Amino acid sequence: MELIFEIGEEGRQLDIFPKCDVPEVKLNANPRKQELHLPHVSEQELSRHYTKLAKRTHGVNDGFYPLGSCTMKYNPKIDEEMAALPGFTGVHPLAPVESVQGCLEVMDTLQKDLAEIAGMDAVTLQPAAGAHGEFTGLLLIKAYHESRNDMKRNKIIVPDSAHGTNPASAVMAGFEVINIPSDDKGCVDLDGLRAAVGEDTAGLMLTNPNTVGVFDKNILEITKIVHEAGGLCYYDGANLNAVMGQCRPGDMGFDVLHINLHKTFATPHGGGGPGSGPVGCKEFLKKFLPGFTAVKNGDCYDKSYATDTIGDLRTMGGNFLVMVKALTYITTLGKEGIKEASSNAVLNANYMRVKLSKTYHMAYPVTCMHEFVMTLEEEHKQINIAAMDIAKAMLDYGIHPPTMYFPLIVHEALMIEPTETETKEEMDHVISVLKEIHDKAVSDPDYIRNSPHTTVISRPDEVKAARTPVVAYEF
Ligand SMILES: *Cc1c(COP(=O)(O)O)cnc(C)c1O
Repeated sequence: MELIFEIGEEGRQLDIFPKCDVPEVKLNANPRKQELHLPHVSEQELSRHYTKLAKRTHGVNDGFYPLGSCTMKYNPKIDEEMAALPGFTGVHPLAPVESVQGCLEVMDTLQKDLAEIAGMDAVTLQPAAGAHGEFTGLLLIKAYHESRNDMKRNKIIVPDSAHGTNPASAVMAGFEVINIPSDDKGCVDLDGLRAAVGEDTAGLMLTNPNTVGVFDKNILEITKIVHEAGGLCYYDGANLNAVMGQCRPGDMGFDVLHINLHKTFATPHGGGGPGSGPVGCKEFLKKFLPGFTAVKNGDCYDKSYATDTIGDLRTMGGNFLVMVKALTYITTLGKEGIKEASSNAVLNANYMRVKLSKTYHMAYPVTCMHEFVMTLEEEHKQINIAAMDIAKAMLDYGIHPPTMYFPLIVHEALMIEPTETETKEEMDHVISVLKEIHDKAVSDPDYIRNSPHTTVISRPDEVKAARTPVVAYEF
């Protein structure tokens, strides 16, 4: 497909600006270091170009999108409509508080709702993503130890099943990462944890249900071991879709967590944002929170700044419109609806897991939460069919592949998260497609190895794309 710079004709433009009615003044020196290249296209060319591009992408409105760990669920349109209200889109973040009372009410209500869902005492809405929230939470943990003059606590314990952002955030926050192994169910190995904690433990970062979709039955013991060693417990809330309304990280013994509004709470995930990764914490960490939190004083809302703040994590209060969507979602579902959503997410995942286990090997043959992991290790050894081949073959059926090669502890992993918003018919369709692909992989492995056959591009060099990306157009 041609780029926008390759269509149109020099001098062609959209006439959207009125003629200049003041004298033109030439700049003395051109501040630009190089020529400004703008596309020269008509409005219709522009419109067709972007429509063509849009048709080439696959979104949750096109079909099944089972990316495990990402919660790619359908987001009700009403959430978008609320976020598009002019009263919300037109506000300026520096507007005086008297003029943005409604917006502060949105923030205050969302802070309270998220705190209630997570079992925490305070919430900051400032972080812009999950990883940003992790970094924030780790700085809170650091500030806590420093405030007690407990300077030797410089290690963060992270299980080997963790999302890559966990160790990365810990390193960025200035900690050393201690990796601990998982047991044969993908859960934390208690002996490994006991051996890892000590006087230098700043904290533990944990995802529960973990990245293989299993709820760690030792969760209370885990947080106890860390607390007894003097460390704090960080909960990676990316998988909250499995447990919201059922149980609360705060009650499991966690001191601080992040929530991905762009996974669990109605902002479409992917496509580069904007996202939002609010951080919740227990009372004793509240004084370190960044930015401002919205508070209600009498009948009015105000901004409140923490006394011993870790400082701003970004400008202003965070990605506000994402908050509006989350609040709309939470409010329309209500307490019972949220619980029903997580129940159905777990039910759907188990339905697919059981049906697919007749054809595929499950990495952990136990009841799962909202997602499950299949392993193609056997197929890879015996018929040289990799997880990547199965994923690519799905594209020919118009189905987005699941998460591949994650978590790293499972070889040839395909991680499926159907979410609560898929129907039984759709899941049955995907199950039958996956069976068909498996049959074909056995009878005609070359066909599957060369999939996809119907897409515009078949198999791009993904390593090259990641290592040497070309993101600027050469004029
Ligand atoms: C998505 C995810 C993250 C990071 O969240 P971002 O919003 O993508 O930065 C962290 N942990 C887990 C388990 C995740 O799935």
